[in-house]
Amino acid sequence: MYRNLICGVDEKIPLKDGSLVTPINFDNAATTPPLNTVLQEIISFSPWYSSIHRGSGYKCELSSNLYENSRSLVMDFVNAGKENVVIYVKNTTEAINKLSFRLCDGIKKSLILSTDMEHHSNDLPWRDKYIVDYININDDGSLSLKDLEKKLINYKGSVKLVTVTGASNVTGIMNPIYKIARLCHNYKAKILVDGAQLVPHRAINMGEISSPEHIDFLVFSAHKMYAPFGIGVLIGPKEVFMKGNPELSGGGTVNTVTHDFINWSEPPEKEEAGSPNVIGVAALAASIRTLKKIGMNNISNYEEYLTCYALNKLREVPDISIYGDVSCKARVGIIPFNISGIPHYIVSQILSDEGGISLRNGCFCAQPYIRKLLKISSETSKKFIRSPSLPRPGMLRISFAFYNEIEEIDKLISLLIKITMNKSRYLNKYALNKNWCNNR
Ligand code: PMP
Repeated sequence: MYRNLICGVDEKIPLKDGSLVTPINFDNAATTPPLNTVLQEIISFSPWYSSIHRGSGYKCELSSNLYENSRSLVMDFVNAGKENVVIYVKNTTEAINKLSFRLCDGIKKSLILSTDMEHHSNDLPWRDKYIVDYININDDGSLSLKDLEKKLINYKGSVKLVTVTGASNVTGIMNPIYKIARLCHNYKAKILVDGAQLVPHRAINMGEISSPEHIDFLVFSAHKMYAPFGIGVLIGPKEVFMKGNPELSGGGTVNTVTHDFINWSEPPEKEEAGSPNVIGVAALAASIRTLKKIGMNNISNYEEYLTCYALNKLREVPDISIYGDVSCKARVGIIPFNISGIPHYIVSQILSDEGGISLRNGCFCAQPYIRKLLKISSETSKKFIRSPSLPRPGMLRISFAFYNEIEEIDKLISLLIKITMNKSRYLNKYALNKNWCNNR
């Protein structure tokens, strides 16, 4: 429906046999192609591009205005309360690392609750500086709110932050972030929502600080929202970033410097050391304007329609296992599956070679969650620790964006059915290639 808004979708690619086809991209959870409006913005802004903040002249003023005005566009897009500040970084990973630095009190380690369904980027940055406990998941892959509440009660108000994904990059399950926020605030904890998989697909409402359901911190990446030019976003209360020295210091972070004195500038400047990525910000702003014009509700309705269709059709594929909650509701357009008797890395290679279909296979940077969904024992996990080159268990993952179409899903399904009908032929043809099987 919105296909013509995206760059490159009709650029033909060669299959293994040399024939040319229109590719099918079902790997939008990894990254998205750029919107045409984003590219147009980069081209039309480039002649006016200049240094910002510290220069003078017409172009400097224009570029500075574009950069600074974009912050209110971002705030408005996620309905962030006035007390917040938008800090630009490279991506979600950098945003979470930055926050983990900022919230760190120094000598005494505070307590953070993460979950069993997080991307490594919302797990590892917390490990060294905090005591981290993990909220369990239910059998269907959803987060156990019971376990969250139990942990909040047991820790008696000492949880500093609950850090949770808005939508899982493995199962697509959307967490009830506003309900979780209310629970957190009841127990004096703050909440960080990893919005990498949610912000491009659903309207977000960070809300006013007076609301018990407000979101304290939100992070996301522009490259997953059709503006792949190196920008990520961290939003949180300005007051939090007023404290302490910045993680990175240098140009742009200070008001006054002598050899023995530093007066830091206010956030967000204090948190954005060095020359900023103005073009990346222009790209993000253009993407937000386009997404707003299409309407986030239209996007989520259309993606939900694609997802329900795909879930129903996938169930018709023989020998398929679909992981996590298999209902259409409360999920973004991400579906993980396996076909028994043929490894995920071989299936994904066949889909690419014979169908021009891109998707992802492996563990999607969420190994603890994958292990739980696949019910892999800790004994078996140890085997992979001891022998890192062993082919790992994993899954296949399709992930939609608003430019995908029903016909593309039909092509995937018919190729999957062909694969299941010809397993032994494919297993012979696709002898194990070590490069395919260890996607993390
Ligand atoms: N969190 C989630 C849920 C993700 O899906 C991803 C990217 N796959 C990240 C964090 C990390 O995002 P980035 O690579 O843009 O830093």
